[in-house]
Amino acid sequence: MRIAIVGGGPAGLVAALYLSTLRGAEIVIHEKQQKPVYSASLCAEGVSLAILSRLEKDTSFDSSPYISRRVRGIRVIFPNGKDGYIAQAGATLDRTAWQQGMAAFLEKKDVLFNWGSAITDPAGTDCEILIGADGPASKIRSAIGGRADMVPAVQYRMRMDRPGDFLEFFTGEMFYSGSHNDGYGWIFPKRDCFNVGVKGNFPALDRFLEAFDIKGEILEKAGAPIAVNGTVWEKTQSGMKIFLTGDAAGLTNPVTCGGLSPAIACAGFIRQAVIRGEAGTYTSLIRRHGYDPAYWNRVHALFYPRQQILNQIGEILNGGRANPPSPAAMLRMFLHPAAGKHCLVMLPSLRRLKNVSW
Ligand SMILES: Cc1cc2nc3c(=O)[nH]c(=O)nc-3n(C[C@H](O)[C@H](O)[C@H](O)COP(=O)(O)OP(=O)(O)OC[C@H]3O[C@@H](n4cnc5c(N)ncnc54)[C@H](O)[C@@H]3O)c2cc1C
Repeated sequence: MRIAIVGGGPAGLVAALYLSTLRGAEIVIHEKQQKPVYSASLCAEGVSLAILSRLEKDTSFDSSPYISRRVRGIRVIFPNGKDGYIAQAGATLDRTAWQQGMAAFLEKKDVLFNWGSAITDPAGTDCEILIGADGPASKIRSAIGGRADMVPAVQYRMRMDRPGDFLEFFTGEMFYSGSHNDGYGWIFPKRDCFNVGVKGNFPALDRFLEAFDIKGEILEKAGAPIAVNGTVWEKTQSGMKIFLTGDAAGLTNPVTCGGLSPAIACAGFIRQAVIRGEAGTYTSLIRRHGYDPAYWNRVHALFYPRQQILNQIGEILNGGRANPPSPAAMLRMFLHPAAGKHCLVMLPSLRRLKNVSW
């Protein structure tokens, strides 16, 4: 079985890790960057340990040497300065090193790398199965008639004097922008610096730093789009079975904009779809497991409520745990006229949300 993967970013590499466990798979990865300069795309590099463990269990690839810093979970900061905690162990990665580590692991498993090879048309590959993992501006997606929305994001790498036990998410209407009218600010700790960013542009990032009195030395500045709301994930064309994954598929979580966890989950779905060989399997697995943008769009407003509701949730959590809140906080939340209604509507969605690790 000849498999070509276009794009050697996280989505292409994890797809190769999963597919290389299939007997008879001959895999070639086409990566447009040259090997000596190969590096990761812009990222805050936050990921849960649960999804990295799943990757290791399924493929034997151990990500732990590439962890920059371990965190105890997520700290959510509300506009009024109150906070709440989600306990779920996570980490920031050294993403370029992580990708280079996966590439070296795959080369040992006889996966071929075609460095400096930019593929713009599926016909340019000689294979039975093609994986489009060529990032947000995917040519493979366009070639099969798919679309995705682009969300702009910007980030500073900063040196700061700040605790680094949690990935910090800052909420509030000041972050809402774009056609989805959403957004948040983040501070993710690395070994010796912090990734600090927002969905949006640099003036929005500067307003965030000012509003929360965040100070430090800016070491690097960068911006990049995140692809969400993909419309097509598989197609059979000229006898070739084509799957899209990662940002090429627009399968980045439209609420958090996290792309690493969906890419790992979808690599497992592609493997199952290849084994079953039935058209539509990949699409139905994406939908069944809650990675479907249609699901996220239904619950989107619940994650980005008005400022007043965010402040009320902050008041009630008041430095406590959010997953789940204490019984007293839960009761106060449900009895509150506005926050209670919001939480009640959210409950059924949250049940499904537990499938989707960050
Ligand atoms: C500011 C910012 C912060 C983020 N923070 C997080 C986070 O904390 N956690 C998280 O989970 N996600 C985060 N994301 C999202 C995450 O970075 C992406 O979802 C992830 O990079 C997607 O991986 P990918 O392999 O699909 O695409 P990419 O990382 O873009 O990789 C695509 C690869 O394909 C190659 N390529 C492109 N075109 C071609 C071609 N024609 N032929 C051959 N090769 C090609 C590229 O060189 C590249 O190596 C963030 C994104 C941004 C912009």
